[in-house]
Amino acid sequence: MTAPGGAAALSGDALRQAVPVHGDPRAVPIALRADGLVKHFPVQTGLLGRGSGTVKAVDGVSFEVRAGETFAIVGESGCGKSTIARLLLRLIEPTAGHLQFEGRDLVQLPAAELRRLRARLQIVFQDPYGSLNPRMTVGDMLAEPLMLHAVVPPAQRPARVAELLSLVGLRPDAADRYPHEFSGGQRQRLAIARALAAEPKVIVCDEPVSALDVSIQAQILNLLADLQRRFGLAYVFISHDLAVVRQIATTIAVMYLGRFVETGPATAVFETPRHPYTRALLAAAPLPMPGARVREAAVAGDVPSPLDAPPGCHFHPRCPHAIERCRSEVPQLEVSDDAGDTRSLVACHRWREIGLPAPRVVGAVRDPAQQAVLARLQAAFDRGAAAVAQS
Ligand code: SF4
Repeated sequence: MTAPGGAAALSGDALRQAVPVHGDPRAVPIALRADGLVKHFPVQTGLLGRGSGTVKAVDGVSFEVRAGETFAIVGESGCGKSTIARLLLRLIEPTAGHLQFEGRDLVQLPAAELRRLRARLQIVFQDPYGSLNPRMTVGDMLAEPLMLHAVVPPAQRPARVAELLSLVGLRPDAADRYPHEFSGGQRQRLAIARALAAEPKVIVCDEPVSALDVSIQAQILNLLADLQRRFGLAYVFISHDLAVVRQIATTIAVMYLGRFVETGPATAVFETPRHPYTRALLAAAPLPMPGARVREAAVAGDVPSPLDAPPGCHFHPRCPHAIERCRSEVPQLEVSDDAGDTRSLVACHRWREIGLPAPRVVGAVRDPAQQAVLARLQAAFDRGAAAVAQS
């Protein structure tokens, strides 16, 4: 594994080098760029399949991911975010658009070159049970990418397998066991170790913790953050869960029916959400405060079928601010930051009129016993966060 700024170095102090992200994050090199990415699926409709239609799963999405950052794509189920994950790996072919990685357009690359570049563009899937081969020992499973991508000479493979296991917090003797002998969290650690084996620059994490218990989720997120600090990895982190995204994202794109409706630095999206859909998602996220309530109502209704997406702004049937214009005219992404930060974009005809939301929480905790519990929890959390920051 190549530590940031260093030569090949998987072990020793070199691993502890920090990612060089200081000052303006836009000065950090771009690891991956998508331009006008489109994926349409032709489908047959009707009882006898005589009709036809098109599912616009991804409909013109552009973004860039910088080294050492986590670009999170968030939205409800069916919005197209997992299709983006598969497009980035070219597991499915895009209908249109370009993907720049290490100076090459992945969409145009012949298969042999794509295989070579794919070593540095890995994926961790949601299901730690289904993503590991049950017939291979962990050692063989981790040695496979080492061999396929000629990462180390054969004689060094056992030592590298042991290092990979140690990196994800597992003992070296795990190499002799099979995936079914591990818990869900441990299997996700194995999936991460396998992704790391090929020494990637970018890892696409497709709902990597949504199948895990909350306490295990935190451990896996901490592990991902730690590996990112050590190796300068860029993550494309796909999730429906804003609480999870909040813990790990540097930049966020909120997706609705195949389009990005709001993007920006994570703090801006969480603190000053502009799009009504972003606000509704935030309103639906649980609050870590007993007795607290949110001002803004969670979004009503379900995501419409992507086969029959509403015209104009796709969100208009669910939007409390919709006007006639919203039903016919597609809103384009435009800069929404008052200071002109071009990373903050929103696609809404009325974002200026709507303004910023009122403070999210109403209903303070008044019970002294609850206040004391909260104070203790907050202090414990602060201590934990400080320890993680120093580690
Ligand atoms: Fe709502 Fe109209 Fe903005 Fe869409 S464009 S989010 S319908 S106000």
